[in-house]
Amino acid sequence: MSKLKTAQELIKTNNSSVMAGFNMFIRGCPPITFGDGYHDAYDRMQGYEFAQRMAKEDGIAFTKVFKCKQGDCHPFQYGGFFVCNNCGGKGVDKEWWKIQVEKDGNEFCCHGLDFVNLQESSNYAFGKTFEEAILNYEKVMLCEVLILQTNLIEYKTN
Ligand SMILES: [Zn+2]
Repeated sequence: MSKLKTAQELIKTNNSSVMAGFNMFIRGCPPITFGDGYHDAYDRMQGYEFAQRMAKEDGIAFTKVFKCKQGDCHPFQYGGFFVCNNCGGKGVDKEWWKIQVEKDGNEFCCHGLDFVNLQESSNYAFGKTFEEAILNYEKVMLCEVLILQTNLIEYKTN
């Protein structure tokens, strides 16, 4: 099982702002803008973009903010937690939001970090592009969540 790795493990730089930006991408923070008020925004952006590129080209693990469940979810980070106005909670983030996207022939495969292989695992999806693989993965995983919930309901009423 792979895990999220930080700037400290993956890159070499003396610039701690670059490292901070890199780790923000890994943790699933939205892209940094000058409007965020960081005095070192430019350096952070460089780190962020570097991590983004490594996710695409080298297949490093990172956090992607998906929906928490089917429906109108738009989770975002607030005060160090992922919150969702639709679900009305904090800490809505899921293990399956941690992903890796790997090039597989002419396609990309997006999978969760506890993915073993195509036979034993169900937490993966393919796509023609990096972005498409991620979108397809979200569809698969939200569907899984729904199936799990349905099973739970059947189990309780039986
Ligand atoms: Zn939600």
